[in-house]
Amino acid sequence: MKTFSDSLNQPVRSKERFLVFGAPAIEEAEIEEVISSMKTGWLGTGPKVAQFENDFKVYVGSKHAVAVNSCTAALHLSMLAAGLGPGDEVITTPLTFCATVNSIIHTGATPVLADIDPVTMNIDPEQVAAQITPRTRALIPVHFAGRPCEMDIFCDLAKESNLTIIEDCAHAIETEYKGRKAGTFGSFGSFSFYVTKNIMTGEGGMILTNSEESAARLKVFALHGMSKDAWKRFSDEGYKHYQVVECGFKYNMMDLQGAIGVHQLRRIEPYWLRRQAIWKRYNEAFAELPIDLPAPSEPDTRHAYHLYTILIDETRTGISRDSFLNAMTAENIGVGVHYLSIPEHPYYQKTFGWRAEDYPNAKRIGRQTVSLPISAKLTDIDIEDVILAVKKSIPKFSG
Ligand SMILES: *Cc1c(COP(=O)(O)O)cnc(C)c1O
Repeated sequence: MKTFSDSLNQPVRSKERFLVFGAPAIEEAEIEEVISSMKTGWLGTGPKVAQFENDFKVYVGSKHAVAVNSCTAALHLSMLAAGLGPGDEVITTPLTFCATVNSIIHTGATPVLADIDPVTMNIDPEQVAAQITPRTRALIPVHFAGRPCEMDIFCDLAKESNLTIIEDCAHAIETEYKGRKAGTFGSFGSFSFYVTKNIMTGEGGMILTNSEESAARLKVFALHGMSKDAWKRFSDEGYKHYQVVECGFKYNMMDLQGAIGVHQLRRIEPYWLRRQAIWKRYNEAFAELPIDLPAPSEPDTRHAYHLYTILIDETRTGISRDSFLNAMTAENIGVGVHYLSIPEHPYYQKTFGWRAEDYPNAKRIGRQTVSLPISAKLTDIDIEDVILAVKKSIPKFSG
């Protein structure tokens, strides 16, 4: 193995071996299943989507699952099914992917941000309570990086103020809080199977709900607003006319995606164990560096280990966050930023008048955070390369 000093003159990895951030593990079973879908000719929504919905709801433990083509679609439809629209306020976190906020805007409702707790990086219950007004109708907690939000407090708050909870579980398929899986606390749980997520279907999403009525409505919304029999319209029971009963969307998942999902889901626990091992290795390797590591998990919770984020504080490291991102890229290691806080983006500034300084914890973390690769696909060599590159990139680490 290369040592620290050998590595100083050349990048840790060659350009040809650039380590892509968030690269998915793709195995033979899903490749075969996609081929088999192609051979049957049934590519659209069909039996493989139905199987994936069923397997997924069994894994998480919910009565109904509706597959869609993204988590963004899942969030949007959940809010429509909750009856949200113009005049309603929906509270969420400033440290999230833009899709969480955009989906609120697409319903016509008004997004309201509540700052995060700087240790957990999750939305802070006290900040949420401070943002509740008579117009607040819903709360979207994001289980950031796979660490569960304080769901006891949020469920109490929701009850008191009559709010619908829609959980953004894009990072959190395996997440548990006090023995219960994330996505089952709110009226709806929204999941993502985008390529970089814990399991993936290329693009894809899922909505979990315990309400049969909501599940039926979600299915109608996800396919043009056509009456639910439309999903089975082309069966051998004879032609059925569809009726359009809502102004719906084109959000359905394809069987090609379901084919990938059913096999990915079968490996969710080994993948989780692998990410946990990488997480522990990073914690041990970085213990002596002048950077902040992810806070330890709280007792009686299960972290999904979706993101491993370090904080680069220039005064301690001798390098700015953005220079560190460039330094890692020069070592041919892909890194991510999750996330520049929402109010840093011009659209939200000009539309809502948001200012980053009004959410100081999200602002600081958004400016210091770096996500290191933690996909189940990484080999032991990849992991050691990441560690070496991090050490090389921090001038105040003596080596
Ligand atoms: C990835 C992500 C989404 C969007 O998921 P898509 O499936 O790409 O639409 C939403 N919220 C968070 C927190 C995410 O990380």
